[in-house]
This record gives sequence, structure tokens and C-alpha cells, in this order.
Amino acid sequence: MPQLRKNIITGEWLILAPERAQRPDDYIRSGRMKRSDKSKCPFCPGGEAFKNSIKDAETENIYVVPNKYPAFVTSINGNDSKSYRVEDSFYFVKHALGGHEVINIKNHDLEPFQFSTSLTQELFEVFQNRYLFYKKDKINEYAMAIYNHGPESGATLDHPHAQLFVSSIVPNYILRELHGSENYYNTNGSCVFCDMVKHEHHERVRVLAENDDFILFTFFAARFPFEMWVLPKQHESQFEKVGKDVLKNLAIILNKVFVMLDKTLNDPPFNFFIHNLPNTMKSCSFYHWHIEITPRLSNYGGYELGSGNVIDIVAPEKAAEFLKKE
Ligand SMILES: [Zn+2]
Ligand SMILES: [Zn+2]
Ligand SMILES: [Zn+2]
Repeated sequence: MPQLRKNIITGEWLILAPERAQRPDDYIRSGRMKRSDKSKCPFCPGGEAFKNSIKDAETENIYVVPNKYPAFVTSINGNDSKSYRVEDSFYFVKHALGGHEVINIKNHDLEPFQFSTSLTQELFEVFQNRYLFYKKDKINEYAMAIYNHGPESGATLDHPHAQLFVSSIVPNYILRELHGSENYYNTNGSCVFCDMVKHEHHERVRVLAENDDFILFTFFAARFPFEMWVLPKQHESQFEKVGKDVLKNLAIILNKVFVMLDKTLNDPPFNFFIHNLPNTMKSCSFYHWHIEITPRLSNYGGYELGSGNVIDIVAPEKAAEFLKKE
């Protein structure tokens, strides 16, 4: 029987129709992704991008460059603003201000499942530094660090890299999460994310790993087969405030995710992203920063696009069982 599942945070409906699917093992990739030639890679140290490394942002194993084709720009220079006709009397338009950076791991050959704990921790420290840098300018309402792995995830180059999108708007998905979690708080008097930590810990059917600071589980109303969430156990709305020892525990959990995905699904494409409180808000009691990990093993069809409701065909409870068996 298909089931309608409600996303407890956003209130969105998800359709779970496991009868339509193949079993979880049908998602195992047949071949591993190949690495491109290092000598032609623009992201390798010595390559074209490295020349633009932002010196203050560089660390031992990571460097940061402005994105060559940015989605958000730090300033409007000269003719750029006139490069398209703005029909401002009817549609609403504004400049896509903010920032867009590529955060490169220096070592071309490392796949996420080969990242050491210290490297993953270093990556999240770089994210924090860049969040704090952009937060100084009030125009930047939001920053989101993301990672794409594999061509189906949107990665155009296979050199290991993350990206930072800084925008003068709060993203739509975040607005829905904020709205839903505030409603939940007003009704229940508690943070929905804190309650989810307790619930998942108690039920155990979706939990994949835990340590002192984090819990990892498959998400109840998954938008993607094998979707996973990492929630901090302590209530904290702002990622940039998290201490180094907590980031170490985050790195341990995330590296488990990367290894688990590689071992069970044979190096599938995936994304992960950080959801955080907007810069326009002071730390708050109803929102809780977190990470969502979305393997990219299925495509959306017309119904998903037309309705905004996703049909998931792998039950998150089955997905958890499968991911744990490695
Ligand atoms: Zn490279
Ligand atoms: Zn919380
Ligand atoms: Zn989220």
C-alpha cells in the first residue's frame, strides 16, 4: 500500500510507494566513477584556478577561489547590470548579490570515502571561516555550503571540491523549514529537530550511527532514496558557532556516511548541504542547524515536478537496514 508521509518540519507530503521499486540492491552502481587526468585539471594546485586562491582562506589541505561562473556576485560592476533587459514594471527582478566560491581539496585523487577525519574537519572549519567572513556584510542574508559528488549530482569537474553559495535572499527550502519549525515550537513548546533526535534515538529503525554530538539516520519523509540527515544532539541554530571538538565528531560521522555509501551502493553520486539559520536572525530556539545527504539514484518525473510531491520508492527503514549491512 502506498503511504503518504508528512515532513514534520515543512509539512510537505511525500508519497512512499515501495511496490513500484526494485529492491535497495537494484540501486548499486555497476561501475565506479573514473577520475579525470590530473595534468589537465584546473583545480589542481598549479592549475588555472589555484592562481586565484584567496590567501586568507587557504589551509594546509584546502584552498578557496571565487567561482568563475558565479550564481551570486559580490558587486555589480559597470555594464553587467545592463546585460539583460529588466522588465521592472511587471515582473520582479533584483541583482543576484552575495558570493559564490569553490572550496577545493588540494589532493586531486581523494574521493570523499577516502577523506581522513582531520581533512573533513578542516573542510568544515573552512566553511565556518567563510560563513563568518560573509556574515560581516549585511547584504548577505544566507550562506550555504554544499558538496556535489559525481556527474549526476551536478558536479562538472571531478576534482574533489565543495562550494559556498552566499545570497542576498533566504533560500525557499529554508523559508519552509523556518516556517514549519516555528509553528511546531508554538504548538509544542519544543524544537522539532531536538524532538526528532530523541524520537530517532528511541525508535532506532532509521539510525545509522551516533556519537556524543551527532546522530545519523535515514529521513522519514525522504525526497531521495537513501536520503540521510545528520542532526547535532545539542540544540544550536547556528553552524558557525560550533566548536572544533564538535566538528571532529561531525567529521567522524560524515566519513561514515561516505564509506557506507561507497561500500553498499558502489560509489553513488550524492550531494550534501548544510542547513543553517539565516544571518538576518539571532540564534533561536526553534531552528537547529543540520546536514542533509542526498544520493542521486533516481530522477524526478512529471508528477514530482507538477505536484511538488516526491514519490520515494525505497522505504527509509529498508534503506537504513541496507546501508548498515556493509
Ligand atoms: Zn585536480
Ligand atoms: Zn533543537
Ligand atoms: Zn533541512
